[in-house]
Parts: sequence; C-alpha cells; structure tokens
Amino acid sequence: MSTLPPCPKCQSTYTYQDGAMLVCPECAHEWSPDSVEAAEVARVWKDAHGNVLQDGDSVTLVKDLKVKGSSTVIKVGTKVKNIRLIEGDHDIDCKIDGFGPMQLKSEFIKKA
Ligand SMILES: [Zn+2]
Repeated sequence: MSTLPPCPKCQSTYTYQDGAMLVCPECAHEWSPDSVEAAEVARVWKDAHGNVLQDGDSVTLVKDLKVKGSSTVIKVGTKVKNIRLIEGDHDIDCKIDGFGPMQLKSEFIKKA
C-alpha cells in the first residue's frame, strides 16, 4: 500500500481513496491525485544555491567554464544577462558579452 498524500486544503493525513478521487474526511475536500502529481513534477530551474531561476534573470558564474572546442575559459564571476531556461543537460541558454551564444548548466551559476 502506498501512503496517500495529505489533504491540500487542511493538511489532514486521514485522506482516503474513493474511485479515482482522494477524499478528506475532515473538510470534505475531494481532489484527483493526478493533478497533485502533475504539479509536483513541474520543472523548476535552480542555481548553485538553490534559488529558483526565471527567464530573463541575470546571473554570475560560480566556476571557471571551458568553452567547448576551444581553449577559451569564461572566468568565475562573469555576469550573464537575460538567461533563458531550456530543457536538457545544459539547461540555460544565454549570450555572454565577448563570447556569444552559450549554453550553461544551472548548477554553475548563481542569481545576480
Ligand atoms: Zn481536508
């Protein structure tokens, strides 16, 4: 048996399943477990310190980064303006002054 999630309205843990719905006996709230799950898997981008990132944020690098296919290194502390969040291994799309378009990993940046 899997544990049912607490009631999203009153946090009661006495929820039970009724067909496809979950029901809270304390406040009579009914909800679909599918919608709760969908909300939980929504992708959130976080920087090296766990701050949530958004499109258009300005960030700085927390680590020297080698540019793929060259000997150029973008130094720690470099400011990056107007980032765009994308799906993938490198999850930040941006343009760095003097370097051009670049894709970064969110774990190597922090919100400015
Ligand atoms: Zn409830």
